[in-house]
Amino acid sequence: MFSNFGGFPRKASFASRFSTAPISAMLFDFDDVLMVTEDNAHKIFEIMFVQMEVGGHKRPNGISFKDKRSEEKSVDFLTRVYADPVLGQKAYDIVETLYYQTEIPAVEGAAETLRLLKQNNTPFAIVSNLRNELLEYRFKRLFGEFEGTVVLGQSRKPEPDNIHRALEILGITDPKEVLFVGDKMDTDVKAAIAAGCHPVFFGPIDFEGVKRIKEETGYKGPVGWVSNHQELRELIIGRSKSKPPPHPR
Ligand SMILES: [Mg+2]
Repeated sequence: MFSNFGGFPRKASFASRFSTAPISAMLFDFDDVLMVTEDNAHKIFEIMFVQMEVGGHKRPNGISFKDKRSEEKSVDFLTRVYADPVLGQKAYDIVETLYYQTEIPAVEGAAETLRLLKQNNTPFAIVSNLRNELLEYRFKRLFGEFEGTVVLGQSRKPEPDNIHRALEILGITDPKEVLFVGDKMDTDVKAAIAAGCHPVFFGPIDFEGVKRIKEETGYKGPVGWVSNHQELRELIIGRSKSKPPPHPR
C-alpha cells in the first residue's frame, strides 16, 4: 500500500524513503521546521485571551488554537472568532505585540543543518507563508549568522510561485535536484510537488496524509520524511552536488 515506506524496519527504510538524486539546493519552510512555532503561538494566544478578558471581553467558547495553522491567526480569523472587527483587531494587536516580545526558540539542530549546507557550499532559501516583516525579524534573531540568506515570506503555499522565485534567485534550473523541507502536507508538500521539487516531510510521518496528497495531486514520486534535523543532515551528507568552496590560497 505504501510502497515507499512499507514493511522495513526503521533504519533499513531510511534510504528507501528518498530518491538518490544529488542535491543542488535546499528550501525550507520556517514555522516548525526552523522555529518552534505552534507550541509558542498557542501560549501567546492563551495570554491574549487573558488580556482580552481583562478588557471585559470574554474568550469565545470552544475555540482551540492548538491545531490552527499560523497563517490562520490573522485579523480576519480573529474577527470571525470575536464576531466583531474592532475586537478582532484588538486581539490581533495583542498577539502581534506578544509575538515580538516573546523569545521563540529554534527547532533543535536547525542551525547545524544550515551550517552543514554552508560548509558544502549548497545554496538554500526560506520559503514561508509568514508575513515578510515577522519572518525576517525571526530569521535574523535565530539565524543571524546566516546573513544574506534568501528569505521569502507571504508565499501563498501550496502555490509554487515563491519556490520558483527562490530557485531563480539561487540560480537553480533543475527543481528535481532540490529538496523542499516542510511540516505541512497541504501547504509545503503540495507546493513542493507543484514546483517539481523533491518534497521532504519534517515531523511525525502521516501515512494517510501522504496517500491523500498523492491522490489529490497525481504525484507518483517519493515523499521523503525526516523526524528531526539529525536525520535531515544524514540525508544531506554525501549528496551535495555543489563544488566545495575554493581552497583559500
Ligand atoms: Mg511550517
